[in-house]
Amino acid sequence: MDRWQAKDKLYRKWEKNLKHHGVIFPEGEARLLALLCLYAHFKKPITQDEMVAWIQENGGRYDRQARHLGSDGWFLKSGNTRSTRIKCDQRMRRDELMLHSVKKPNPIWLKQRKISRLYELGKGDWSELLETFADRGCAVCGRFVKHYDKGHLDPQRPYSIENIVPMCVECNNWAGAHNVTFQLDKRNLIARPIKFTFES
Ligand SMILES: [Zn+2]
Repeated sequence: MDRWQAKDKLYRKWEKNLKHHGVIFPEGEARLLALLCLYAHFKKPITQDEMVAWIQENGGRYDRQARHLGSDGWFLKSGNTRSTRIKCDQRMRRDELMLHSVKKPNPIWLKQRKISRLYELGKGDWSELLETFADRGCAVCGRFVKHYDKGHLDPQRPYSIENIVPMCVECNNWAGAHNVTFQLDKRNLIARPIKFTFES
């Protein structure tokens, strides 16, 4: 399969599985070649030096920036334990990358995208919000409980989707009693108290 056939094949998979999630198909030549290289080694880890060689053979130049494909929504894995935007696979070497799926988007990216949809654009509903917090539990204490209250982030503002987080009953009662204002750490889904009163 030559590089342009591979591109067509990958493009069709993207259209079918990834486009509706908002995953970006690369337009620039450098990023496209990096993706095609990872696709040619699908589910196999490849080092940055091996990518340089493959891309050179295919008439391009590699800028060693393939990890940014993860921020475009592509489901890569990395051997770098400090990687925050791409899942780390500890069996891989530190300088290796791998294209893990062309059916599903990068789960870390997808989660962040859902969070910004909810908290920046105010789009979505309570059930989507609960789903987003599924691995986090109560936004304040992190406990997993059967029922979550709609906890207010800023009690001075209305109960809109961008102003609520799931809270356990205890945290929500405490917040209510002390008129607590929270700031949401959107990366880690932690609601941190920033202001409260001792009245009541
Ligand atoms: Zn709690």
